[in-house]
Amino acid sequence: MNNRYSRQELFPPIGKSGQEKISTKHVLVIGTGALGSACAEALVRSGIGQLTIVDRDYVEWSNLQRQQLYTEEEAENRLPKVIAAKNRLTAINSSVVIEAIIADASGLELEEWAKQVDLIIDATDNFETRMMINDVSQKIGVPWIYGACVGSYGISYTIIPEKTPCLTCLLDTVPLGGLTCDTAGIISPAVSMVVSYQISEALKILVGDLDSLRNKLVSFDLWKNQHSAIKVDKLKKVDCPSCGQHRSYPYLSFENQTKTAVLCGRDSVQIRPSLSIARDLEALEKVLVKQGGNVQRNPYLLSFNVDSHRLVVFKDGRVLIHGTKDISEAKALYHRYLG
Ligand SMILES: [Zn+2]
Repeated sequence: MNNRYSRQELFPPIGKSGQEKISTKHVLVIGTGALGSACAEALVRSGIGQLTIVDRDYVEWSNLQRQQLYTEEEAENRLPKVIAAKNRLTAINSSVVIEAIIADASGLELEEWAKQVDLIIDATDNFETRMMINDVSQKIGVPWIYGACVGSYGISYTIIPEKTPCLTCLLDTVPLGGLTCDTAGIISPAVSMVVSYQISEALKILVGDLDSLRNKLVSFDLWKNQHSAIKVDKLKKVDCPSCGQHRSYPYLSFENQTKTAVLCGRDSVQIRPSLSIARDLEALEKVLVKQGGNVQRNPYLLSFNVDSHRLVVFKDGRVLIHGTKDISEAKALYHRYLG
């Protein structure tokens, strides 16, 4: 137990004092898919004090190829990713305080969580949440590390409020691959590479060695053997609505937070009630069974099949409708079965 972090302490830029700092830090990881699993594991192994993980999804078979924290049993039981992740992460390092939140993060929630942390790591799979993280980071003054990957391509950038340009500053000028919805598939080394960039930067921030930060937007394609690092510090905009002089934090405005959305790269629609409602899953199960539904339930969610669709209901009232990309069809199913 005593020499648990000896190799990290022997690394001069961290040392014993850096390790002490790391042990007092609280990191928020948004998303626990491929990037989030690996980032969370690296942070927990490095000995951070506290970790908050947020994810809206449950473990599926197609995740297992690259999402390193999860098992076949968890896919079989459709366990929410953050619950599966927390179990595994606690087994890896029991001294880290881990909070697992099953949610599709809204701007308001992000703001509340961000106030309590030293750093935010972006491990989301969608543009909307990523831009909300960017606005929250600027509003609260917490650094965040952008990361995305698709296929064999990956990209990462570190944003320090009041110092570097933010993601909104870069949107018009820099091709931010990975921001868009893509169904091109993904290979695990692209994930590991982005995670390596994100965690190296995270450790520098956690020990306070900001001079060593990369200060460049890095991107690569491992299959095409391409690599680039672009200096973007001149792209900070005075009139940026997220980090400029007159800020409106456009991605936090309520209108921009879609309540019904087709999920990236998946044949699924998510319906989110405007206010989270507590659903009694047990009672709902009884009603659906009476209607002849084939219902499966675990403590966190309930799923049932209707023809070629599967509806998954979470405790906070959020519903995923698999088997369609048609929002009106999804809404019709929602109202038919769930009010
Ligand atoms: Zn900006």
